[in-house]
Amino acid sequence: MQTDILDRDIKFLPGVGPKRAELLKKELGIATFGDMLTYFPYKHVDRTKFYKISQITGDLPYIQLEGSIVSAGITGSGRNRRLTAIIADGTGQLELVWFKGLRWIHDLVRPGKKFIVYGKPTTFNNKVNLVHPEMEDPDKQEKQIRSALQSFYNTSEKLKSSFITSRVIGKLQNRLLGLVYGKLEETLPGKLIEKTGLININEAFLNIHFPQGADKLKKAEARLKFEELFYLQLNIVRQKAVRTGKVRGLAFSRVGSLFNDFYHNHLPFELTAAQKRVLKEIRRDTGSGKQMNRLLQGDVGSGKTLVAVMIMLIAADNRYQSCLMAPTEILAVQHYNTLKNILDGLPVETGLLTGSTGKRERKVLHEKLLSGEIKILIGTHALIEESVQFERLGLAIIDEQHRFGVAQRAKIWKKNLRPPHVLVMTATPIPRTLAMTVYGDLEVSVIDELPPGRKPVITAHYYDTHRERLFGFMRKQIAAGRQVYVVYPLIKESEKMDYKDLEDGYESITRAFPPPGYVTAIVHGKMKIENKETGMKQFVKGSAHILVSTTVIEVGVDVPNASVMVIESAERFGLSQLHQLRGRVGRGSDQSFCILMTSHKLSNEARQRIKTMVNTNDGFEIAEADLKLRGPGDMEGTMQSGFPFDLKISHLGKDSRILEYARQQAIAITEEDPMLEKPENKILYVQLRKLNPEVEEWSRIS
Ligand code: ADP
Ligand code: MG
Repeated sequence: MQTDILDRDIKFLPGVGPKRAELLKKELGIATFGDMLTYFPYKHVDRTKFYKISQITGDLPYIQLEGSIVSAGITGSGRNRRLTAIIADGTGQLELVWFKGLRWIHDLVRPGKKFIVYGKPTTFNNKVNLVHPEMEDPDKQEKQIRSALQSFYNTSEKLKSSFITSRVIGKLQNRLLGLVYGKLEETLPGKLIEKTGLININEAFLNIHFPQGADKLKKAEARLKFEELFYLQLNIVRQKAVRTGKVRGLAFSRVGSLFNDFYHNHLPFELTAAQKRVLKEIRRDTGSGKQMNRLLQGDVGSGKTLVAVMIMLIAADNRYQSCLMAPTEILAVQHYNTLKNILDGLPVETGLLTGSTGKRERKVLHEKLLSGEIKILIGTHALIEESVQFERLGLAIIDEQHRFGVAQRAKIWKKNLRPPHVLVMTATPIPRTLAMTVYGDLEVSVIDELPPGRKPVITAHYYDTHRERLFGFMRKQIAAGRQVYVVYPLIKESEKMDYKDLEDGYESITRAFPPPGYVTAIVHGKMKIENKETGMKQFVKGSAHILVSTTVIEVGVDVPNASVMVIESAERFGLSQLHQLRGRVGRGSDQSFCILMTSHKLSNEARQRIKTMVNTNDGFEIAEADLKLRGPGDMEGTMQSGFPFDLKISHLGKDSRILEYARQQAIAITEEDPMLEKPENKILYVQLRKLNPEVEEWSRIS
């Protein structure tokens, strides 16, 4: 029985035992045979080629050679203590060096003994050597599955110091495959395998760990990646099907006086064509009687807030309440003020609820929400707390929170007998592959047009040594009536130092821009909200020329007169963050600038990021570059809260074609058999439940 074998505790695999099992579990999360089998190599190296020592140079990548030990000895003391061995193969001699495990290796490398040696050549004192090479006894090779391509597995320092190297993991995989090969039961339906031309599960696992040739390896990868992405998609597609089939939504059937009055008498400007189109899409959803789950994407400054306001008015016209949730207090307050402003004179009461709303105010708010007096509630996370209850919540809008996953959405749904419509707004462009994975159960609307008159922001890269030039430029802009942001990074681990940088920066700016001629405001996370707001207000009103801040202003802040964004230590920001920050300028009709300050020391990746920013303003291009540079990483992880899959072999940046194909297959199957009830699809249901034990849970919430 395969399930029994794969569920077996890893300590029972010959060569593991309780001690190593403990380590494997702790360091790599490998607890069972199945975990081990799906612990995939990160690369494969051709081990058929042997080098002659005379051919070896210090700039070669990994090389393999065969030779005999000439001599070996331990020299030096303390940190310089090392084992040096000389190996020869008839064409020359080469030095092998070890700094760790000396005694053990010394016993191994006796003069005259033959070895297959594998490692990366380095040059030291004009001499080529191999540091910590892998040594294999050519006569003592285990009886094992042979492969021309050797697999390499990630390990940790802890594992290495317990001698669980990549090679040892390879050996364990070898034993494991010896036990399970040929006995693994298929995890994809036969019909699907036939249709897709994928190889079977036994061949796939054999060839991913021990490729029997380059083409076999490719096929193994294709099968395993497909399977992983297919189940991911099946899960999403099915959730959506179940939801739209089962859930009766609220119908905003009419457009009433609030909307019409606003549209005709209060709208501050003509809507862009994209805003109009998106409004129509949302109207269609919310009026249909189905529950809406929609993602509204629009680059920074594209005018999402206005769309949100208009939908909330339609909700109010239908006697429903709305809430708008922002990621930070500053932003919530700003939204509240914007709304107050543009809804002035309309009979619609608006409330604000954040972490710093006082007890008494809160009580009043709660009452007014329950009575239905408040039609629109703006706030932070505070508004999904259970104590916040509505009379008739019809619409929940989530602004700028890619962190808002399935689980949080479920929380909002629980506020009503029938789930409100949900609109998630984001300026962080989500690459298609990611959107398909994380938001695959949402409909997507895109505002792909900026309001007229906007000029693309000009971006430049300055080294710290050009600070005088920067200050000169700032003076000119300020003299022309513009305002300037100066942003400092804030990273949790080095918070103390970051605040010091911020304070030093603030000081040097007030020295270069002395009061009273210049006013510089400061806003950062450690300040009390009142002081933060004072700083912000000064800047918003235009009474401060410069705003020095941490990334608290990262999302959403809207000061059209600010035309310069200076980002200090720009190399420490991720691409999407840089793009968000840049989006704070270029909101008026003036030419705006973004200046990325860095030191001269830049990693390749940081240089690439800066270059991307200088070269393009296109959010989607930036998101794609980001995904390629660092993988889905953070974004994926945080967006997925409530999302149980962990990608083991596929890469959302690189495997988009397989993903697309897997999605098509998942859709086709779901359309044919949404509940996966057909006998041929039973295997899918079983697998899905194994991967996502909450499958049923979710469909119940839905
Ligand atoms: P975002 O999509 O980044 O949230 P905002 O909603 O903050 O963008 O809008 C950015 C700026 O553009 C605001 O100052 C807003 O008043 C303005 N704006 C929105 N829609 C239009 C429009 N149709 N024409 C002109 N300006 C607009
Ligand atoms: Mg916004």
